[in-house]
Amino acid sequence: MDFHQLQEGREFWLGGVHIPHHKGGLGHSDADVLLHAICDALLGALCLGDIGKHFPNTDDSYLNIDSKILLSKTFDLINAKGYSVVNIDSTVCLEHPKIMKYAPQMQQAIAEILKISTDDISIKATTTETMGFAGREEGLVAYATVLLSK
Ligand SMILES: [Zn+2]
Repeated sequence: MDFHQLQEGREFWLGGVHIPHHKGGLGHSDADVLLHAICDALLGALCLGDIGKHFPNTDDSYLNIDSKILLSKTFDLINAKGYSVVNIDSTVCLEHPKIMKYAPQMQQAIAEILKISTDDISIKATTTETMGFAGREEGLVAYATVLLSK
């Protein structure tokens, strides 16, 4: 799971894809909430801690970094423990922009990094029916679950 604030003028990156929007995620990296949630799920599945432990936001080498690089480094950690990814389910919760037309591009970007088929990457979107921070477009959240095999 990962959260980011949305801020006017920031680039909106999701699932490794740049999506045109007047707001984008605020963060030390490119604030790609979906890739961060997937990284966290991969690390969590192997009791490797969380994304903040491996890629601290106090480390300037990660400033504005493309989160695809973080996912790739996370994948290396998974491989080093002898695991591969079987499949992924994810949900992004936000009001705007509408993201599902970009899902094939996101699946492609994630599949290339994790060396699985796009068919094994589920990306879903939901709103909070205008309630709360996501409903007010102050931020967004992504959830991911992963299945690994040894
Ligand atoms: Zn994040």
